[in-house]
Amino acid sequence: MASMTGEKWGGCLCGAVRFRAAQVKTEFGGCHCKMCQRWTGGPLLAASVPADAIEWSGAEAVGIYQSSDWAERAFCTRCGSGLWYRVTTRPDTDYEVLLGLFDDPGGMRMTSEIFIDAKPGAYAFTGEHRRETGAEVQARYDLKRAEST
Ligand SMILES: [Zn+2]
Ligand SMILES: [Zn+2]
Repeated sequence: MASMTGEKWGGCLCGAVRFRAAQVKTEFGGCHCKMCQRWTGGPLLAASVPADAIEWSGAEAVGIYQSSDWAERAFCTRCGSGLWYRVTTRPDTDYEVLLGLFDDPGGMRMTSEIFIDAKPGAYAFTGEHRRETGAEVQARYDLKRAEST
């Protein structure tokens, strides 16, 4: 199981949307899929926060885009900052909170990259961590689904 940080705060560029996270997984991941590239302008970097451990303020400024049959992407309707990615097919799934929102992301480290085969050749993250292709990610999710039914 991933270890957790202490309490952390963060928010969007304009400050209309803020959050308080009681605990955040110290391990964060990156996604290079084309949807994340279009959404963020680069790779998606996000840290998981359990749904019952995060409080959002500024709900009136939050926009939700259902980007697929299984997930949503939230953004600030005033400044355009991305806020979170979240799987919507199961209740109470973690918020994948965009790393750049954290006032202080200290104590967190990158432990995985997914859709590595979709990453443009122009940049790369250094360091030893798990790197999975889109097909490998798909296989892992199919396996999880098979185990749960
Ligand atoms: Zn904003
Ligand atoms: Zn992605």
